[in-house]
Amino acid sequence: MNRLILCFLIFTINLSLYAQNIVDKEGAVVRSDTLQKKIYLCFTGHEYVDGFEHVLSVLNKQKIKGSFFLTGDFVRSNEDLVRDITKQGHFVGAHSDKHLLYCDWTKRDSLLYSETQIKEDILQNLRALKKLDIHPKHFMPPYEWHNKKVVKIASQLNQITVNYSSGTRSNADYTTPDMANYISSDDILESIYSYESFKNMNGFHLLIHPGTSPKRKDKLYLNLDGLITKLKKKGYQFSKF
Ligand SMILES: [Zn+2]
Repeated sequence: MNRLILCFLIFTINLSLYAQNIVDKEGAVVRSDTLQKKIYLCFTGHEYVDGFEHVLSVLNKQKIKGSFFLTGDFVRSNEDLVRDITKQGHFVGAHSDKHLLYCDWTKRDSLLYSETQIKEDILQNLRALKKLDIHPKHFMPPYEWHNKKVVKIASQLNQITVNYSSGTRSNADYTTPDMANYISSDDILESIYSYESFKNMNGFHLLIHPGTSPKRKDKLYLNLDGLITKLKKKGYQFSKF
């Protein structure tokens, strides 16, 4: 056999054996099971609670499970809701206690709090969850912004840091019309569909905020049912952590 073909075959076989999770250069898992046509719907919660009931009813109607990353503040203020989320079989994980910006937006490797403070903040979040008998292994950093040090601190607390997959604008669904980066839900949906058609969404962590500022009237989560239906038609299933 031609040596080049052999090399290619070995390369492809290796790829099919190992290309499952995509880990970014900071060490967080930003895409899972790329060999499977499964999307991970991720929901984060801290300050606002407006869309949670709607999201839960859609997931229930569509018979799929999602992953909810909730801060300690959120958990303590909404204990019954958080119990409901777990009872319905969804994943619930940590998202920091106070939603602090752990690392600088531009100088990413700089921590804005000490390692001890960050560790304590994640720990408080885990304690709030433990009180409800929730013992997660996956953590999504506050502001969905992490660096190597945050990933390491989380791992010392037995937490695997996960973050959303980049490529769509879904994470900007928190924006309000007075912001320069405001984006409408139609444009966000368009970004998801065009990403899907040009690439694929195998193992994609699709982030949606089920609670957003009252200043944003055009809520992306109100489009969740249609979004799931459309992605199901493209052959995707949905998975949780
Ligand atoms: Zn957040």
